[in-house]
Amino acid sequence: MTTTHKPLVVITGASSGIGLATAKLLSGQGHALLLLARRLEPMLQLALPHTLALSVDVTDRAAVLAAVAQAEERFGPVDAIINNAGVMLLGSIATQDPAEWDCMLDINVRGLLNGIHAVAAGMVERQHGTIINVSSVAGRKTFPNHVAYVGTKFAVSGLSENLREELSPSNVRVITIEPGAVDTELLSHTTDQGIKDGYDEWKQQMGGVLSSQTIAEAIAYAYGQPQSVCVREIVICATRQQP
Ligand code: NDP
Repeated sequence: MTTTHKPLVVITGASSGIGLATAKLLSGQGHALLLLARRLEPMLQLALPHTLALSVDVTDRAAVLAAVAQAEERFGPVDAIINNAGVMLLGSIATQDPAEWDCMLDINVRGLLNGIHAVAAGMVERQHGTIINVSSVAGRKTFPNHVAYVGTKFAVSGLSENLREELSPSNVRVITIEPGAVDTELLSHTTDQGIKDGYDEWKQQMGGVLSSQTIAEAIAYAYGQPQSVCVREIVICATRQQP
């Protein structure tokens, strides 16, 4: 194991958007990284030092556990995980294909729990660590055509609150990041073109949305505090975003 790097950080959903920007930022700060997403190529293209990139679906619990074990073998114990992988399939509840709710619940909630599961026991044992869960402002407020997505993000914000209470006696920090609209690939997977067009119009009305870099910097700020300081939640939106 080389000691020329800062402690290991796991980032899920590192093949685009917020996860990719955070990978670049934390690597620049010298951290060893485990990057997970289904698409391997964009993570390999980053060519970051002290980085293991693996094609892993976060809904595959065994694969997440195996990936973390492999990275720890190489870089030492996980200091932080950023549970960022997520999908947003907006739809009207009366017409949306229920397979889309299943997909969001599986990835946004069950996948996030898999990430927590992969690191929590080790962090409790070491009495040290940070779990950063990427929720959304849609984990605190409601939006049109967001019923199932809002359900997943309220779940993330809620379980993070409970997790913080459970792990703080073990000196493990739990940080919830709740961004408003960010310019990423997230909307592209929504299948309803009318909803996508409306969302794009909403983004324009607020004079442009946040960049992934802004969210990465918020994550790095919270993580960069001393272990004795827990920035519990960051809600971060474009100034002109409503609601
Ligand atoms: P992107 O679509 O750009 O990134 C999503 C990432 O999640 C990709 O790397 C994708 O990789 C990965 N991912 C999706 N499904 C899986 C899976 N089953 N297993 C592993 N990785 C997966 O969107 P964002 O960067 O915007 O999204 C990141 C997080 O931020 C999400 O949780 C999202 O809900 C949240 N968020 C985003 C906002 C926005 O406006 N963009 C606002 C608030 C919160 P791959 O497809 O290669 O697997």
